[in-house]
Amino acid sequence: MHTIRDLVKLLRCTKCDSQTLHLKNAHKLVCKKCNTSYAIKNGIPIFLPSPEIAEKKPQISIFEKYINHYDAWFEKPKGKILFINEVKAIKELIEYKTYEKSIEIGVGTGRFAQALHIKYGIDPSFSALLLAKKRGINVVQGIAEKLPFKSEIFEIAFIIVTICYVQDPLMTLVEAHRVLKKNGLLVIGYIEKESPWGKAYLMKKKRGHVFYKPARFFSFNEIKDLLYKAKFEILKVVSTLNRLPQEKPTLEKPIEGYKKDCGFIAILAQKVPIKSKFLDLL
Ligand SMILES: [Zn+2]
Repeated sequence: MHTIRDLVKLLRCTKCDSQTLHLKNAHKLVCKKCNTSYAIKNGIPIFLPSPEIAEKKPQISIFEKYINHYDAWFEKPKGKILFINEVKAIKELIEYKTYEKSIEIGVGTGRFAQALHIKYGIDPSFSALLLAKKRGINVVQGIAEKLPFKSEIFEIAFIIVTICYVQDPLMTLVEAHRVLKKNGLLVIGYIEKESPWGKAYLMKKKRGHVFYKPARFFSFNEIKDLLYKAKFEILKVVSTLNRLPQEKPTLEKPIEGYKKDCGFIAILAQKVPIKSKFLDLL
């Protein structure tokens, strides 16, 4: 784990985008340019656009309220196996490599970050972050659409079962693109809308299930379109959760490529440089 001083070196002001954040004391960061101050609570810098956002937005407030319930799911027999399968799919995608400069956007309670050795995490839910911090992740509270990180500092970014909860999926990918180094990698893991799993979750959403009600599910084509718009090129795809949601889950070997019957799809994409107008004229 890094010290707060090391973490601050990677951050920038979300109000004026300048890289002039100064650690005033253990509880406060101040932007030297625009004078905005950011609180640090339990060693976690807070970059929420407004303090009320965590209470008002249902996709954040459910995690604040039911975080222990959510985190306990991973310990249940079914949750455990599904989690192992999902982690295995992502590990295969990145060929079991670990990266020093890695971030999970929507780190939640840090389950995936811990299993995949991801060093940094951001999430709007403070109660989730307290758990992620305990799991050894360097965390910041903020939103995916406005990352408080400097540009071009990460080798790889992960967005795992998070794209369904963000307010603006395209802006989330645009921001991931910004914080990635040249040729940086992006891993997206999501629940496929067209699969039996996606359909089962949609039913739960309609019935008002606490975690699925605020979720918005995506199909492979929709994700592909978002990646293209945000200037990412797909390198590899793997699919897992090949059994039906009502069946007893078993440990699975991830299948290469996109399989529409699989509930969990993981995509590895690479940052494509944004051409300047000048280059377009050549
Ligand atoms: Zn500022």
